[in-house]
Amino acid sequence: MKTQVPFFRADLSGQEVEEVVATLRSGWLTSGPKVRRFEQEFAAAVGAPYAVAVNSCTAALHLAVEALGLKPGQAVLVPTMTFAATAEVVRYMGAIPILVDCEPLNINMDFDDAARKLVQLKSGQLPSALPNDLQVAGIMPVHVGGMMMNIDAVQSFSNAHRLWAIEDAAHAFPAAWRRVPEEPWQRCGEETTTVSCFSFYANKTITTGEGGMAVTHDADLAERMRLMSLHGLSRDAWERYSGGGSWDYRIIAPGYKYNLTDIAAGIGIHQLARAEEMRLEREDIAHRYLVALGDVEEVELPAEDVNRIHAWHLFPIRLRLERLLINRNEFIEKLKEAGVGCSVHWRPLHLHPYYQETFGWRPEDLPVATALWERLISLPLFPGMRDDELEHVTRTVRSLCAQYAK
Ligand SMILES: *Cc1c(COP(=O)(O)O)cnc(C)c1O
Repeated sequence: MKTQVPFFRADLSGQEVEEVVATLRSGWLTSGPKVRRFEQEFAAAVGAPYAVAVNSCTAALHLAVEALGLKPGQAVLVPTMTFAATAEVVRYMGAIPILVDCEPLNINMDFDDAARKLVQLKSGQLPSALPNDLQVAGIMPVHVGGMMMNIDAVQSFSNAHRLWAIEDAAHAFPAAWRRVPEEPWQRCGEETTTVSCFSFYANKTITTGEGGMAVTHDADLAERMRLMSLHGLSRDAWERYSGGGSWDYRIIAPGYKYNLTDIAAGIGIHQLARAEEMRLEREDIAHRYLVALGDVEEVELPAEDVNRIHAWHLFPIRLRLERLLINRNEFIEKLKEAGVGCSVHWRPLHLHPYYQETFGWRPEDLPVATALWERLISLPLFPGMRDDELEHVTRTVRSLCAQYAK
């Protein structure tokens, strides 16, 4: 039988299954004791005092920009190399994302370009569809693939320009960084930015099917996000219905319906307990990719850094198109024919119809991402990936490179 390697396969143990069954049998399905426990254990795992569990990372990002008071007429610096969610929550508040280019190697936001975009905004050099009287309020860096940005650079940039910073940490659990080997690690979420937003979507580093977490060191922000996560009610369902709670509540603000269920939190508690073990498995697979593909001249591989604990959510390779007879899309077709699932992270936001048509972004406004995305392929990387699966991927990539080398 032909080997088929999926892009991702969730790693769920018997404990997750039993916890879900126990939750169903308990009769308490929605936000309750398991959500509280998941929040406390997640907060402890990242070293933060407050964690608000929600039903997606998108919801966490939305609650974060709402709690920070983002308003129409304001703008936020958002990397063009990200998923839809990071920029769309800015639009939810009626504000405008100013797209920022990426670094060519690790794909993370480029602060030189962020500074350039601020200057260009003031001098009217950005696309004419953008109002030039925008007040830039914040910055939303993304740790692409789970390789953390330099947090000193994030903080000095946001301090210098008086911006709040929310990190889209959808890929970055568990992850950490340090300045130099002599210093202790700082975990992603350990006050790395004002609010850190994590994803537990089906194919993320830990999953609850759908789910997310907003983490902060600011008690007021935590309270506002918790309030807005459940209709803006002064008490949540758990406090109202579980022992001793009151039937009464007050609507403080027109909130959202973003609470996580106990069914999902039951999965999350056990995924969380296995998070470092699963990360080590992904790291091992990444190292084996780096060795097995290290001498292939037609591809460039993701970088490592001794000052990062890499979550290894993704393993993005960059094709050297000048050395190949086929382009990225054709390469992906060939991988698919050989039974290798893969993906691209991402088509940059400025190359999507909405951002082009609404704000007038052109390919040349973000030249690094424009060129880079045509070269990107994310290879399968997940805990539980078997030796024969890894070998099939590396053998296929090697033989395609040999076959289509210029
Ligand atoms: C997956 C992802 C999100 C959204 O996460 P959800 O939990 O699906 O809402 C946001 N940002 C990035 C970078 C992602 O990869």
